[in-house]
Amino acid sequence: MPYTVDNRPANFREQMYFPEILQGLKIAARHFFKNLFFSRDANPDFLERDRSLNWVATLQYPEERVTYPPGYRGLHRLVPREDGKPRCVACYMCATACPAQCIYIEAGEYADDPVEKYPVKFVIDEMRCIVCGFCVEACPKDAIRMDSGEHAPPSYDRAAQIWDEQRLLRGPPISYQNDPWLRRGSPSISPEKLEEMRARARPFPTVATDEASQTPGFSVRALAQEAKERGEGR
Ligand code: SF4
Ligand code: SF4
Repeated sequence: MPYTVDNRPANFREQMYFPEILQGLKIAARHFFKNLFFSRDANPDFLERDRSLNWVATLQYPEERVTYPPGYRGLHRLVPREDGKPRCVACYMCATACPAQCIYIEAGEYADDPVEKYPVKFVIDEMRCIVCGFCVEACPKDAIRMDSGEHAPPSYDRAAQIWDEQRLLRGPPISYQNDPWLRRGSPSISPEKLEEMRARARPFPTVATDEASQTPGFSVRALAQEAKERGEGR
């Protein structure tokens, strides 16, 4: 509901100052006791919590986190192809479009593919990033996304905010029917496997939408949890 600003001139009681101070104290005390003894917020985004032990709804970050809404520009990821390689062809368009100049790429050539390039190095300084999303918009290959639902994790070390290609390449693979590598094939992929991959590929969206640039259900948090359970947590 939009908030309406009340611009009417102060009346005599308000001009006396003290009644308004008491009014403010009354509101603060009401919220204080409500927070102390009752559940303050029924926000379903909050993680499950035993309300019999903790009635206060203040989010205990980082143990508890809200789920960001769809379309939230989170941490970048380099989208993998069906064969696990990055979709990125090292065209530098994202680095060129980046107003913060925080993307660094070095291009290389595949040994088994005479046409396509790939990023030997792909580094994003998440500390410098202003989360504008221009890199995602500029990419002609749908190779970089910000659909992780995560912001840059806090750290004491600046170097920890510099994400390289190994950290960035994650999440579900995406392949499109008109992907040149998928049509050409590769000596390292068997013909049967290639047919399987082609069958899974989807048409390239003709109109870019928020929905098209999101991977439903994908969350780096879920991936991190899985890695933690496997004992691979960072
Ligand atoms: S979101 Fe903006 S600032 Fe961040 S890497 Fe992409 S283009 Fe650069
Ligand atoms: S992420 Fe996209 S825009 Fe950036 S270099 Fe790779 S293919 Fe080009």
